[in-house]
Amino acid sequence: MTFLNPLKARLSALTISLLLQGTAALSAGLSAAQRALTWLDGQHPQLAQALGAIRQGLMRHPKAIGLSLASVLLAGGGGAFAIANLGPDISDQPVVSVTTPVTVAGLADQAQAIDQHVLNLIRTDLTRSSDTPESLLRRMGVVDTQAAAFLRKNPLAKQALLRSGRTVSAEVNNQQQLRQLSVRWLSNENDTAFQRLVVKRTDKGLEASQESSELSTSVRMTGGTVASSLYAAADEARLPDAIISQLTDIFSSQIDFHRTLRKGARFSVVYEVLEADGEPIRTGRVLSAEFNNENKLYQAIWFQENGQKGSYYALDGKSLRRAYLAAPVAFSRKTSGMGMRLHPIFQTLQKHNGVDYAAPTGTPAMSVGDGVVEFAGVQGGFGNVVIVRHGGNHTTVYAHLSRIHVRPGQTIQKGQTVGAVGSTGWSTGPHLHFEFRVNGVHVDPQSVIQQAQSTPVSPASMARFNASVKYAKSQLQAAAQMRDTSEQ
Ligand SMILES: [Zn+2]
Repeated sequence: MTFLNPLKARLSALTISLLLQGTAALSAGLSAAQRALTWLDGQHPQLAQALGAIRQGLMRHPKAIGLSLASVLLAGGGGAFAIANLGPDISDQPVVSVTTPVTVAGLADQAQAIDQHVLNLIRTDLTRSSDTPESLLRRMGVVDTQAAAFLRKNPLAKQALLRSGRTVSAEVNNQQQLRQLSVRWLSNENDTAFQRLVVKRTDKGLEASQESSELSTSVRMTGGTVASSLYAAADEARLPDAIISQLTDIFSSQIDFHRTLRKGARFSVVYEVLEADGEPIRTGRVLSAEFNNENKLYQAIWFQENGQKGSYYALDGKSLRRAYLAAPVAFSRKTSGMGMRLHPIFQTLQKHNGVDYAAPTGTPAMSVGDGVVEFAGVQGGFGNVVIVRHGGNHTTVYAHLSRIHVRPGQTIQKGQTVGAVGSTGWSTGPHLHFEFRVNGVHVDPQSVIQQAQSTPVSPASMARFNASVKYAKSQLQAAAQMRDTSEQ
């Protein structure tokens, strides 16, 4: 399991319950403390000096002080309430009300205990493709022609600033001169380490160095209610697309998101964010999630059996991996808005035997299970059609394809693309006509898919699994609480 350690988790929970923020970034320690500082700063200008000193301490001793300060701030600031909209970043959130003043004494003492230093401002931004060294520095409030010239000439700096979308932090002194500039990026999307270029002012002038550093993981939780579409709800909750696609994937054998997701469906999700120096740089894995759709609760937790690849399980230990996918078309931003469409041609003539998925021409049509291609070609009203034979007298049909990607006799796997959605045959618009046949007779795919068995958590791992479940439940509960609070 890759959960946070309990101390971090407890601090995260405190951060949230005290600040009552919609969807808080669940990274305790440094970033929590920094955010708390930012928030306190805004609320209590008289604290500015003390906070400045604390912030300086945080920069110099990030790890140890981050954690201890987080607890001091959270304990010392007890009773401070702010209510904000749902969203992943505390610092972005509008603070609506403060009901009790913050206790200042503890903070001031703490500030005295930490080094007193001149406050250097740190600003963070992203590189843009239109950036020149001058425009980048200007945007970050740096007025320093020497630094601009250095960034223009130094090969390491030039290389680091070449790409857009990289995080840049600049530390500036009172004269708006650059003290230090850091650029952070990932060389590869799946790296566990990031690259950091640092330009530093030394006695000898500006110097550049580049190093590789491990990403740190923080945990975030969020939730939403589907008012119009899952994507609209996810946008509202500021949930990255990568997490929605993991979510729909995790529940893909239980919920056909195209057909059965209803207005009012609620979801909560706990996921990892990988950070470089406290700045989110990419999303990680969904750790636990739940969907409440039509009063049915679906829950999932990531769990790794000893010596095996991890996978998702229901909270009772049943694997969520099924022999079949719930739908032959991936649920995406593109396909989600299109809604279901009926066969206008067949509708009046005969009973419609199948399920139609409206999707743009070219959308991949996936085999819902492992099998062997029985037919791939043109067949009357079906147009271009692929028929796949699975075990147990099950066959599936994918019709009206614009292109076919498989040939008869070919062995294929669950999720493999058999062709592209189209409008060939008797069809009035691009859609996938899908049938699930048992002994040649069309049945409701959901009824078959739900029956399929899968391997549960092994008895040997059950104690460890249950401990993870207990933890996941409390996190999901917190996520649901935040969702409900923010939606009131
Ligand atoms: Zn149809």
